[in-house]
Amino acid sequence: MADQKKIVIIGGVAGGATAAARLRRLDEHARIILIERGADISFANCGLPYYIGEIIEKRESLFVTTPAAFNKRYNIDIRTKTEARRIDPVKKEVELYDSEKDATYIESYDKLILSPGASPIRPPIPGIEDPRIFTVRNIPDTDRIKKYIDEKKPTRAVVVGGGYIGLEMAENLHHAGLRVTICEKLEQVMMPLDFEMAALVHQHMRMRNIEFHLKDGISRFDTYPDHIEAVLESGKVIHTDMVIFSIGVRPEAELAKAAGLRLGETGGIWVDDYLRTSDEHIYAIGDAVEITHLVTKEKFLVRLAGPANKQGRIVADNIYDNKEKYEGSLGTGIVRVFDIVVGSTGANEKMLKKARVPYRASLTHSPNHAGYYPGAVPVSIKLLFTPDEGKVLGAQVVGLDGVDKRVDVFATAIMSDATVADLEELDLAYAPPYGSAKDPVNIAGYVAHNILKNHVEAVYWSDVDRVCEDGKCFILDVRTPKECELGMIKGAVNIPVDELRNRLAEIPRDRRVLVYCQVGLRGYVAWRILKQHGFDARNLSGGYKTYEIVTGKQENDDVYEYDRITVSDEIIKVKPTAEEVKVKLDVDATGLQCPMPIIRLSEAIKDLKIGEAVKVTASDPGFLSDAPAWARQTGNELLEIKDEGGLYHATIVKRAYLTQAAMVPEGKTFIVSSDEIDKAIATFMLANTARSMGKDATLFFMFHGLNLIRKDLDFDAIHQATGELFRSLKPVPKSTGFKVSGLTKQETSAANVPRLEDLIKTAREGGVTFIACQMSLELMGLKIDDLLDGVHIGGISTYFDKANSANVNMFI
Ligand code: FAD
Repeated sequence: MADQKKIVIIGGVAGGATAAARLRRLDEHARIILIERGADISFANCGLPYYIGEIIEKRESLFVTTPAAFNKRYNIDIRTKTEARRIDPVKKEVELYDSEKDATYIESYDKLILSPGASPIRPPIPGIEDPRIFTVRNIPDTDRIKKYIDEKKPTRAVVVGGGYIGLEMAENLHHAGLRVTICEKLEQVMMPLDFEMAALVHQHMRMRNIEFHLKDGISRFDTYPDHIEAVLESGKVIHTDMVIFSIGVRPEAELAKAAGLRLGETGGIWVDDYLRTSDEHIYAIGDAVEITHLVTKEKFLVRLAGPANKQGRIVADNIYDNKEKYEGSLGTGIVRVFDIVVGSTGANEKMLKKARVPYRASLTHSPNHAGYYPGAVPVSIKLLFTPDEGKVLGAQVVGLDGVDKRVDVFATAIMSDATVADLEELDLAYAPPYGSAKDPVNIAGYVAHNILKNHVEAVYWSDVDRVCEDGKCFILDVRTPKECELGMIKGAVNIPVDELRNRLAEIPRDRRVLVYCQVGLRGYVAWRILKQHGFDARNLSGGYKTYEIVTGKQENDDVYEYDRITVSDEIIKVKPTAEEVKVKLDVDATGLQCPMPIIRLSEAIKDLKIGEAVKVTASDPGFLSDAPAWARQTGNELLEIKDEGGLYHATIVKRAYLTQAAMVPEGKTFIVSSDEIDKAIATFMLANTARSMGKDATLFFMFHGLNLIRKDLDFDAIHQATGELFRSLKPVPKSTGFKVSGLTKQETSAANVPRLEDLIKTAREGGVTFIACQMSLELMGLKIDDLLDGVHIGGISTYFDKANSANVNMFI
């Protein structure tokens, strides 16, 4: 046929196969030749990790089509196991190598489409050639990994690189039963996310007990017949049976470069708006080309299937008629990391800064669907928008559920030039199982629009130090006292938002107020109150939740139950014995009586890292049962408890954060209406023990009980009286039928009874909440200034509020 076009396509998967199918639909008479180096075309690269994890069970599910079926449908001349080795743009020819026949031949073309993709980066690290170190790009790679797992039954894997593919592989290897360690050279995983959003991913991986190292790249692999030692740049050594190397991909641009085609600034093949290379007869698409970012307008490399497929379609149209422009991509992506889903679209803060695009940001955490419908989980959204019109520039979404649809809404919003005000107005589908009347997208719009209209002055987690640097900042936590006990910003003062209007006098007017709540909403309400009462205030965007996650420990290098790092920084994954464990702290609690040894233990463990141990020596026999109970309650591990002639040694390994235990709603409340010494001491001992176990403890002081928290309390007199009291304690006469043991050595015991002064100090420092009864204060003619600092004023309802979340309520 005289005007029959001969089109050669190099690369037969996402972009290439799409282009071939579209070409055929456009031109029934064209001669279309699809060249593919591998044995397969149009396979599901994106499904490869899930096949390894056996979530996709059948290998054949990975093939979208076969060469035979594709040929039958589209009449394409498919040449698999054939590599394009050279392009001659002048003669319009390609040199092809048939690996099955071991033969090289020349094929001419009228138009050439390059869709060669990108290949995994494999730097020349010592040991990297070991066959147990894999990369994942195609079916043969996947087969090799699967075969190795099935035959050799490895139990440990190291994944190098915390990007999309690395994390997908980590998840799937974990699913396949391996213990996975991730090593990432940068300070965060998932580079499309800004740090605070990546911190949510870190937190999730920590929760799932996945070991990962940040800011620690691979320096070499030492290979042995039975294992590999991955040596990190820090010198740490990780023993493993296999490695997935996924530090990124590089565009396969060598063929284009050798043909004299222009490369872009990022190393990808340069193309014009019509996907034409610097040669008018050669087009290029997919992972190999440099394209424009739709928000920043900067050149970038997108390695996603969606853009490759769209470009495949456009390029086919343009072979016939150069009219279809490819404007660029938002880089919209989504990935599941264990249970959490991470999505992003448009530009992140790092990209906007680099491109010098002005922006504002908002952070919101709102439920994926109506809170009252079972199973609501938070969706965290970071929204970036222009500071003038509020045009949406980018969004990052992290959560357990409902992330996909929010990311897609944001992507659509950016493509339609929508503003944050438009997001407020979006009429989105709602029924309790699926969303809320105020969808997280609407809420992100409300918050962003408030920032834009100056209805709130927001600061971000990274601004806290700057805002407070002159020391003149008053940090106000408007959450409930119970929430505050789980952690507060250092130096913050707690006034719950619902008490704020009545307690404005407690806030200095000559200082800037940094107000925060858990996620930002109550902080916003508080900001409105403060602003309208003349305070200079800022609200922390994303609240304490964001701040805590970002400022906390990110890496998880010591998580496996029995992992330990030796002095030479080697990570050993076996259960240590009490002799082997590195005791970080030795605490002498001899001579102290219950609850002081336990309080010393809980104070000591706060300063340890997970996996480190504390050894406590006590003389109180109660410690023998208290220490195991405390460890059980708080989720820490009692490695050993020994009785050595009246001295009790307990070695406890830190396995959990006390705050996690404290999250169990098992508060203890005490009404203290008496100032009798024995009752007072008993009350503080009980409250302090509750706190040492991570439980909420509240003391509600009424009537004479208020005397115990007066600033002018005479502790010397009390101590003297205490001695007399305890020395005078006698067992109840036998005739009454009661028996009291342990009080026969009053003289010695009395000397060891904790001083009331110390008990009160421990209670205050340990986070026991003190509430003074308003009515009793008035009756006794006392003022708040007469009481210890930090005492809250409240009524009976305040007490009931606390009592409702407690399982022990006592009247003393
Ligand atoms: P490819 O699809 O990689 O195809 C290129 C083909 O060209 C290859 O088969 C190669 O053998 C062949 N080739 C190269 N040079 C020559 C030559 N000289 N001669 C002959 N043949 C040649 N994207 C997403 O959007 N979502 C995901 O969840 C996702 N998951 C992924 C998971 C994995 C494990 C991998 C590897 C990729 C994933 N991707 C994902 C990325 C996505 O697969 C790519 O963006 C997309 O396939 C790119 O299409 P392409 O046509 O440019 O290249």
